[in-house]
Amino acid sequence: MKSLSRILLQTSMAVVISAAAVVSSQAASALEPEKIQAALQAAYDKYKGLQEGANADYIPVLAKVDPNIFGITLVTTDGKIYSVGDVKSEVSIQSISKVFTMARVIEESGAEAISGNMGVDATGQVFNSIVAIEQYQGEEMNAMVNPGAITATSMIKGANGDEVWNKIINTYNDFAGRKLHVDEEVYKSEAETNQRNQALAMLMAAYGRIEGDAIEATDIYTRQCSVAVNTKDLATMAATLANGGTNPVTGKKVISAENVDEVLAVMATAGLYDDSGKWLYTTGLPAKSGVGGGILAVSPGKFGIAAISPPLDAAGNSVRAQKAIADISNALGGNPYKVQPK
Ligand code: GLU
Repeated sequence: MKSLSRILLQTSMAVVISAAAVVSSQAASALEPEKIQAALQAAYDKYKGLQEGANADYIPVLAKVDPNIFGITLVTTDGKIYSVGDVKSEVSIQSISKVFTMARVIEESGAEAISGNMGVDATGQVFNSIVAIEQYQGEEMNAMVNPGAITATSMIKGANGDEVWNKIINTYNDFAGRKLHVDEEVYKSEAETNQRNQALAMLMAAYGRIEGDAIEATDIYTRQCSVAVNTKDLATMAATLANGGTNPVTGKKVISAENVDEVLAVMATAGLYDDSGKWLYTTGLPAKSGVGGGILAVSPGKFGIAAISPPLDAAGNSVRAQKAIADISNALGGNPYKVQPK
């Protein structure tokens, strides 16, 4: 009897081991270097000539950015970097910064600090809606829309504005794996025209969501939106989230693994403005876009991907970047919801 059960045990272990080998070789084959590079190149070639959308212009300087910039980078969770197109040009990070400020708040103060203050629900309103604040008295919103994002910035701990700013930029540097800088022209242009954001912040302060100086928080938020990034920066930032909070290129732990899933959840529900649902439906990827023309997306455990192309669609998302990232991820099995039955 004993030896029979041992044989059975050994046989079932062998089955388990060979099944695991099949699964890991499937995962490996989807992410073979040639396959990744081919997927990037195919998407680049397909969408390079696409002339749809227009640069954002409500921040005057964004209208002057070259609309032909188009680059894509994918960084795997084992730190390999693949790029195609223009990977040198930098654009302002804009709303994509909201992800990393939120991550810093959770790291400092815990996930409940976010869910208990501005909330973690989609508003069903535009990203800079005053109505959404009024409707929910500053709650049941999220850190990817402006009122929630400026509130998140105000929640970073520091003795003064400089200390808060240094924490924010150092967090972004660690996510990107290099020292980033502020595009002062973008900062100036937005600082001169951000009265609406100041109003959102004051309203959040009136509802007790922002403690301290709401106008200073708006100014720091405006600075964080003006940080200049290229596709490699954005893809490395995304890959750090895909890799449980540790930058796969530098090896530095940026945030704790247990704090990543909450960040990804809010990206999934509210990362692409009013088209967040459509995006999740077609890709399954937590993602964030910005009016500078960048989009980054996270395939948890597999890769981070980013594309930059300034012309935006009506919802405010880069036309080429959305299409390219969706194609590439789908070609590489990036959708975490797509599973085969056992
Ligand atoms: N700095 C921009 C604003 O506050 C960011 C908008 C965006 O990228 O969605 O309006």
